[in-house]
Amino acid sequence: KRIPVIAANWKMFKTKDEALEFIFAVNAAVPSRDEVESIICAPAILLNLLVKREGEHIRIGAQNMHYADEGAFTGENSPAQVKTAGAEYILIGHSERRSLFNETDKDVNLKMHAAFKYDLAPILCIGEQLDTREANKTKEVLDVQLDKAFEGVSKEQALKTIVAYEPVWAIGTGKTATPQMANDTIKDVRAKLSDLYGAEVAAQVRILYGGSVKPDNIESLLQESDIDGALIGGAALDHKNFLTFTKAA
Ligand code: 13P
Repeated sequence: KRIPVIAANWKMFKTKDEALEFIFAVNAAVPSRDEVESIICAPAILLNLLVKREGEHIRIGAQNMHYADEGAFTGENSPAQVKTAGAEYILIGHSERRSLFNETDKDVNLKMHAAFKYDLAPILCIGEQLDTREANKTKEVLDVQLDKAFEGVSKEQALKTIVAYEPVWAIGTGKTATPQMANDTIKDVRAKLSDLYGAEVAAQVRILYGGSVKPDNIESLLQESDIDGALIGGAALDHKNFLTFTKAA
């Protein structure tokens, strides 16, 4: 049985006070850790603040980090800094990192290895652009993203990875993939993981859907056989919505 995951990606939203308001509102109300992994992926500067106030059932993740151990990289955060701030998860390869900050599949792979080195659980984001979907090349493109992200990653490490399938055309656009389309694509992702690591590993890895998830579509998405949770941007900025998502899981 795969434990469902509800992860909020705050992106570059929330001040310190807004972050505190959110964490205090959800701490006591989220379902227990054994039922749902409820994760907030916060801006690096808020990590420590949130970790200190997180309740028993909330977990904190970062949205990005450099892959180097340390160095002259002004403005970046190292894996050890993310880890010692208390984060347990790290988003890797979000489409905004790929498109706005020129992150390549090679960077994604280096960050995967850095995450394992520092005992952070990666939430690996993959997804296709609209023209890829329209040209029926989604599987091809996702397979390449997966091949490259998992290069040199062991079976044990693959088991610690959460994959988030986020079609780029559905992010922040209000266009959600239909539950069936999302499920079919996630089945393809699982099939690729099976090629890479075998059916047993593939059956255990949690694969999330992301892209315009809202309180009114979460249930139909989670009902699908292969969708193990959601990575949610805009709608999860509201703590009431976040609780709705965790309770739907
Ligand atoms: P939205 O839920 O705002 O579409 O964002 C999805 C996303 O990018 C989560 O990482």
